[in-house]
Amino acid sequence: MMSDPLEAMAEPGTPDDRRRFILDDTGFDEVPRRWRRFYRKWSGASDRLAANEVLCPVCKVVIRSTRELRPGDRVYCMPCMSRLIVGFGPTGRLEATVAY
Ligand SMILES: [Zn+2]
Repeated sequence: MMSDPLEAMAEPGTPDDRRRFILDDTGFDEVPRRWRRFYRKWSGASDRLAANEVLCPVCKVVIRSTRELRPGDRVYCMPCMSRLIVGFGPTGRLEATVAY
């Protein structure tokens, strides 16, 4: 599925032991309809991110994949067109940083 923000999904022959997630449309309307389910608004510090979600440090939108995210994954934030790399933040949670 080319539209998933997790770019690693396109790699053929990669062992796939990741948890899969069903995404629902949360009404995020800053991207075209077919990509809406891959993003949602962040509701602040109390927002708990799921294993398939990571926060974009640029526009503070939550990026969602149909598969569990892991450190080293590259994801694409369509709302701000940033390419991001998933890693561990100072809190031990998954965080994304901008890839240059
Ligand atoms: Zn962004």
